[in-house]
Amino acid sequence: MKEITTKLLILGGGPGGYVAGIRAGQLGIPTVLVEGASLGGTCLNIGCIPSKALIHAAHEFEHARQQAGGSKTGIRVQEPQIDIAQTVRWKDGIVQRLTGGVGGLLRKAGVQVLKGWAQIEDGKTVTVTLADGQTQRVHCEHLLLATGSTPVELPSMPFGGAIWSSTDALAPDAIPKRLVVVGAGYIGLELGMAYRKLGAEVTVVEAAQRVLPSYDEELTQPVLDALQKSGVVLHLGCSVAGWDAQNGVHVRIDARAEDFALPADRVLVAVGRRPRTTGFGLEGLQLDMAGRHIAIDAHCKTSMRNVWAIGDVTGEPMLAHRAMAQGECVAEQIAGQNRRFEPLAMPAVCFTDPEVVVVGKTPGQARAAGIACIDAAFPFAANGRAMTLEASGGFVRVVAREGDHLILGWQAVGQGVAELAAAFGQSIEMGARLEDVAHTIHAHPTLGEAVQEAALKALGRALHA
Ligand code: FAD
Ligand code: NAD
Repeated sequence: MKEITTKLLILGGGPGGYVAGIRAGQLGIPTVLVEGASLGGTCLNIGCIPSKALIHAAHEFEHARQQAGGSKTGIRVQEPQIDIAQTVRWKDGIVQRLTGGVGGLLRKAGVQVLKGWAQIEDGKTVTVTLADGQTQRVHCEHLLLATGSTPVELPSMPFGGAIWSSTDALAPDAIPKRLVVVGAGYIGLELGMAYRKLGAEVTVVEAAQRVLPSYDEELTQPVLDALQKSGVVLHLGCSVAGWDAQNGVHVRIDARAEDFALPADRVLVAVGRRPRTTGFGLEGLQLDMAGRHIAIDAHCKTSMRNVWAIGDVTGEPMLAHRAMAQGECVAEQIAGQNRRFEPLAMPAVCFTDPEVVVVGKTPGQARAAGIACIDAAFPFAANGRAMTLEASGGFVRVVAREGDHLILGWQAVGQGVAELAAAFGQSIEMGARLEDVAHTIHAHPTLGEAVQEAALKALGRALHA
């Protein structure tokens, strides 16, 4: 067996692992990265990027259909069609460009990439089964675990055939006539809404009493309104008990202990993701766990010296930008820099229509933490740019400490608000106060003016509301 020795060995080439690799290479750390599937991991291959491509195509198609039905803007188009095979090819092209780019960046940084599955022998030794069946042993000083997560399967409805995981839903060979979505979280609503726009009859079954239950109700109300307006049928407070081809999905109304069946051609199960901690010898290290994920401290260190972990394998929030930031942080520490992973602002964006953004504390979270705070929301209905974009639903909300107006959090719901996440994150990380944002000149006409107006409103002097 071929043996190599390196300073840093990274398991997993997703956003966490590949960013750690690039940064380590830039810092001159001899680095080997092992990836069993495809560079870019879940995010680039079967997650963030392909889902946003499909969401965009669905949005464009719906827009064209609305215009064909007569648009207030005066645009008239013939009945639009969608060639879903071409949509999937276009999406795959974006994925290939990005994953190829990751390979190029790792090469440029001098990182050695091994394409194969890793098996941990001990905290300093890993065996890799390469694509050609050969094995290679890698000895390292530092081991970085970035093995990501996998979709949770329901025992009564294992993935396969008509039962889709998110990966299947991102590569459809046709648009199902009737799609049942189990789970009204990120994936269920992002993809459920996209399929509705592509023409499927969509029914969502959710165990909680609300859609997007991890966000507060004020924030998710516009999403609920949009779901209902678009004809998505919701069964909240329900769980699923199984599926058969003849009757469809067996649904149980939990509060009433009643069952009914929902006819379905395809069922998308999106009930969460689980850290990938088994199947590659991790158990042998006997690391401290926190429930199902690897426990880490503020340095991304595990309970074993020189074994680090980042990204989805370390639990919630399972977001690509968190994995990337942790990857960079670990590489810099191995290079000797004094770094900690303690962000004040971890943005979360749900790419529904309307989009939802949460950065920092909500009013409820701030009050629950015992902080006396003020909050104010500015509606897009009073924003000129939103009107010209036919996007006047939703609002921007700010939360600030009562005593000194330090900004603690931002939330927004509306079309295109994902792009406000940058301004939200910066103001919190830089310790901005309401006055800083209120006195910053925001370009007119932009959606960003609602950010300034929310700050002004919290100070009791909004100009346009
Ligand atoms: P991963 O991206 O899962 O990468 C882990 C890699 O490790 C994989 O490539 C895997 O093959 C490899 N690996 C595992 N074990 C081994 C082994 N033993 N040997 C070799 N290789 C191994 N997040 C966002 O922030 N924004 C979004 O819009 C968003 N959309 C999403 C949409 C969908 C449909 C899904 C499923 C997820 C989405 N996410 C989104 C979540 C995001 O994809 C993850 O948070 C992110 O990919 C985590 O990065 P990671 O590096 O921790 O793990
Ligand atoms: P999720 O945790 O966002 O939502 C799962 C939903 O399923 C919850 O609302 C839960 O109450 C419900 N549920 C659980 N068991 C159920 C059951 N048996 N019957 C009915 N409902 C049930 O999980 P997800 O949508 O699968 O996404 C997984 C993770 O991927 C997310 O937590 C997020 O970290 C990441 N993700 C992020 C984005 C983004 O950032 N835009 C997009 C997609 C995925």
